[in-house]
Amino acid sequence: MNREVERYETPRGARIYRLPLKLFPGFGGYAHLVLWQDLVVLVDAGSGFGDSNEHLEAGLATVRERFGEPVDWDRLTHVLVSHGHIDHFGGLCFVHSRTQAPIGVHELDLRVLTNYEERLTVIARRLREYMDEAGVEEEEREAIMRLYLLNKHLFSSVEVDFSFEAAGMAIGPLRILHVPGHCPGQVVFLVDDVLLSGDHVLKGTTPHQAPERLSLNTGLGHYLASLEKLHPLSPRLQLTLGGHEGPIEDLAARIDDIRALHESRLRKVLEILDEPHTINEVAHQLFPDVEGYHILLALEEAGAHVEYLAQRGYLGITNLHDLEAGKPVPIRYERLQSWAPPLSALLGSPRQQATVPDVEDPEISTPG
Ligand SMILES: [Zn+2]
Ligand SMILES: [Zn+2]
Repeated sequence: MNREVERYETPRGARIYRLPLKLFPGFGGYAHLVLWQDLVVLVDAGSGFGDSNEHLEAGLATVRERFGEPVDWDRLTHVLVSHGHIDHFGGLCFVHSRTQAPIGVHELDLRVLTNYEERLTVIARRLREYMDEAGVEEEEREAIMRLYLLNKHLFSSVEVDFSFEAAGMAIGPLRILHVPGHCPGQVVFLVDDVLLSGDHVLKGTTPHQAPERLSLNTGLGHYLASLEKLHPLSPRLQLTLGGHEGPIEDLAARIDDIRALHESRLRKVLEILDEPHTINEVAHQLFPDVEGYHILLALEEAGAHVEYLAQRGYLGITNLHDLEAGKPVPIRYERLQSWAPPLSALLGSPRQQATVPDVEDPEISTPG
């Protein structure tokens, strides 16, 4: 990860600064500062953990001192959150204590920020149920839950001032697109010809997927549809900047790579499920060497792919009698041989139909 603040400028005079942050041990990322017309917008707030807040403060100071921009906490006009994951909003309490700038987030992630404790309790409950159904033993399940909750208690709810859809998916000339999948309220920000992609598209990592049963408006189906939505934007973009990892020069190529990875993972899941297996067993075959928190990520990723295939009729449940009898057993899935259209029919060619009406021609308007 680059430790220096990087500067980008767009043809219509927007300046975008990438502020490097250490988010958690061994895990870095970026907040972005956008100056465009009257806007001084902070996109994402870091994790609030460890040195993240200090890095954010230092980033602002660098933009002011080295690049000569008139920025400090008082001059921020907006704080925008790309999605409701703690590595992007955990620093909000700190930011809120420094600035009066209104905080905005998409409506589908609003409650994560404003009612964080409630959200944590509900998700923890669903995760336990999910792991039972996926065939994770109780002891391992509780070890995973402890890891899941470890850093999460560091955040407490903050007030949000506005939601993106209510704001018309625009802040002045800056356009906001809702791309659910990685997170229910994931958005990307179009700043002239630069796209701030949050965790929706990353340069090297395929963004994490979880099954929709854990959280509505996530899941692989929503994610793939949202990827397609961005594809037509690619030719007009100078650059795409994610919330982690390096700049992406060719968004269309990156989208194609991510899509291809999911397609090959779906094929692999179908192969594994030529024999009946639980989601836990599928996860072990897909990701044999994971440890710690990554065990949960692997379970969610496997579950997202199994859910996608099961919902679309590729998989059946082999121990339905046990489930009908109310036995507390994990669900075993198996590939249905009777009906199996090619995956390409599913992943299809939605690209031709994709349109991006809201951002085709973003006209300049007053910042709001
Ligand atoms: Zn995320
Ligand atoms: Zn992230």
